[in-house]
Amino acid sequence: MSGVSDLVSSGPLCCGEKDGEAVAILQAALNMVGYGLSIDGNFGSVTETVVKEFQANTGLNATGIVDGLTAATIDELAPPTGLIRQTWPSQYRPEVTSFYGDPDPGQNGQLSSRWQTDFLLHVPPVYPMVWDLDPGEGRGQPVRFWTINKNCADSAVRCFKAILEAFPDRSALEAAHLHWWGGCFNFRAIGGGHMMSCHSLGAAIDLAPTWNPQYKPYNEADGMLPMKVIRIFEAEGWTWGGRWSRASVDCMHFQAAHL
Ligand SMILES: [Zn+2]
Repeated sequence: MSGVSDLVSSGPLCCGEKDGEAVAILQAALNMVGYGLSIDGNFGSVTETVVKEFQANTGLNATGIVDGLTAATIDELAPPTGLIRQTWPSQYRPEVTSFYGDPDPGQNGQLSSRWQTDFLLHVPPVYPMVWDLDPGEGRGQPVRFWTINKNCADSAVRCFKAILEAFPDRSALEAAHLHWWGGCFNFRAIGGGHMMSCHSLGAAIDLAPTWNPQYKPYNEADGMLPMKVIRIFEAEGWTWGGRWSRASVDCMHFQAAHL
């Protein structure tokens, strides 16, 4: 899969472009950086408006024409290739439990050992990680495996492979705190509500909690998770807690279920 820069090497793309395949690649790339175009290969006014929006949002001249600089900016912001957009269930029972199984079938706070056997996997981390826990609870200990639901494990592995691709240099990865694991499966009884905690299902990941504490609004410049990492999870359809309202914002948290 070539980048958008390759598409414009012989000239910019603009409204009315005849090369439908190139336009489709451009539209898919714009969707990967957060826009919602239908990929129809038609560079009409809708696509032009999105290009203008993208340009305005990234400090470029809002011409609506995809020139070399615009293309390079899209490529720079796009998550690495190899990600596959998933359709995750809603977090509400029973939809989420029909997808991930029900860890608490009696709804009495008792974790089902049958469910653990049937649905939880132990997956070695894609790159070496350490536990970001409280001191005394094993902070800094190597993570031997993730305990994760089998129905989102492949997607999580793809996300972390993409993170590794985006941060191939170990010191850059560590500078962004991406080796600090906050955990995945963690069964918490939640009293008889309609929502299941995604951690109880093994379908949520906490990354670098020390630097991304709950209720702290997102600020990348403050050592919080790089936007590139968030885009990777969102490209696989994961929900990021950093987009939640101020009362519940949770930037460390990614879940393979929507609200
Ligand atoms: Zn979490």
